[in-house]
Amino acid sequence: MTEIRLASLQGGAITFGSDAIAAFRQTLRGNVCLAEEPGYDEARTIWNAMIDRHPGAVVRCRGADSTTGVAGLTLGGGFGWLSRKFGLAADNLISTDVVTAEGELVRASIAENTDLFWALRGGGANFGVVSSFEFRLHPVGPMVLAGLIVHPFARAKELLAGYRDVAARAPDELTVWVVLRQAPPLPFLPAEVHGKEILAFAACYIGEENEGRRALEPLRALGEPIADVIGMSPYAGWQTAFDPLLTPGAYNYWKSHNFVELGDGLLDTLASHTASLPTGECEIFIGQLGGATSRKAVDATAFPHRDAKFVMNVHTRWREPADEQRSVAWARKLFTETAPYATGGVYVNFMPEDETDRVAGAYGPNYARLTALKAKYDPTNLFRSNQNILPSAAQRPAA
Ligand SMILES: Cc1cc2nc3c(=O)[nH]c(=O)nc-3n(C[C@H](O)[C@H](O)[C@H](O)COP(=O)(O)OP(=O)(O)OC[C@H]3O[C@@H](n4cnc5c(N)ncnc54)[C@H](O)[C@@H]3O)c2cc1C
Repeated sequence: MTEIRLASLQGGAITFGSDAIAAFRQTLRGNVCLAEEPGYDEARTIWNAMIDRHPGAVVRCRGADSTTGVAGLTLGGGFGWLSRKFGLAADNLISTDVVTAEGELVRASIAENTDLFWALRGGGANFGVVSSFEFRLHPVGPMVLAGLIVHPFARAKELLAGYRDVAARAPDELTVWVVLRQAPPLPFLPAEVHGKEILAFAACYIGEENEGRRALEPLRALGEPIADVIGMSPYAGWQTAFDPLLTPGAYNYWKSHNFVELGDGLLDTLASHTASLPTGECEIFIGQLGGATSRKAVDATAFPHRDAKFVMNVHTRWREPADEQRSVAWARKLFTETAPYATGGVYVNFMPEDETDRVAGAYGPNYARLTALKAKYDPTNLFRSNQNILPSAAQRPAA
């Protein structure tokens, strides 16, 4: 008889027989793939090869085809090119439909189940399965001024100091991210640069083109770039511009800090670690926040990092299992050496699975309220495959 066994909350297993599976299949829009069925290995494989799990069944609801989805992004906060102008994805949520731990379908919005709605906007996946998201939309583009400016690594410290000044003066419409890595073989980079350390500014201006060109002048005046490919492009295209560098199947591990400012000591540390990147696909990413993301009260939503002006993601990425140890060690060392400059908070969506000791840092001053709401909405901690908030009565085991 076909059956699936799922881990129970008490550590044992719950078994579903073939009748229950058949009934489930009939009501599901999508498909269920069991361990012994064709396609199981493909179905259980996710973007990051570091995650190698063997669930009893993989259930795939029919929906949009994307590698990283809007659901996890929004539930953790969600920042991107539009955030400084319009706020986080979570800040633009109007309402959600949520299947609770009790199996009930409820609506959470600014008017209904308001405490649950508060928790969902930054409290991640701890409170239920969100089956629909209603967002506030904003007119953008469709063409925006965006692109890359690529510099040789030799002047990285000077460029980072210049970036710090540009970021401090940037209008909300302008967002500039920094990437320190080895140059990929992009067509606009000379072949002799490929594989060499570079500093890249990725910039996007959400507004009128000429105003954007003026806003970008101080950034474009920095140093002597190898390439400056800023120009008008469709926003939707720019949003996916880096996908070819992030194809599925590689091993990925990251460590993250939030910063209020980029002090000289921090810039020195970032530059020195770029000289020892463990593989050609590793990078240090600095995303610019601030603007509208910082103009909400810390307790307005569960996302607490309203003070963060920059978020760093030390992203290690490798293809051969033999590269794992030194890649992870490099990320951890850089993380440790940059910790003195950081806020102590961490963006929940940039936490690796092994960071159970940083959960309080992810939820910050909102953590106590979140544990109380967890006790209300998920007292048995059914939703625990995440950066887990324990129900307030429960004790967190030692890390
Ligand atoms: C290549 C790459 C680029 C990224 N760039 C950015 C970026 O620019 N900005 C940014 O903010 N983040 C970024 N992230 C982080 C991203 O926000 C997280 O990976 C996020 O979790 C992706 O959402 P997902 O729906 O794919 O989540 P999943 O990986 O599927 O799940 C993440 C968590 O959310 C839960 N979850 C997923 N769907 C639901 C649902 N419907 N209801 C309840 N819980 C759910 C899962 O159980 C899990 O605990 C990036 C990640 C990657 C891998």
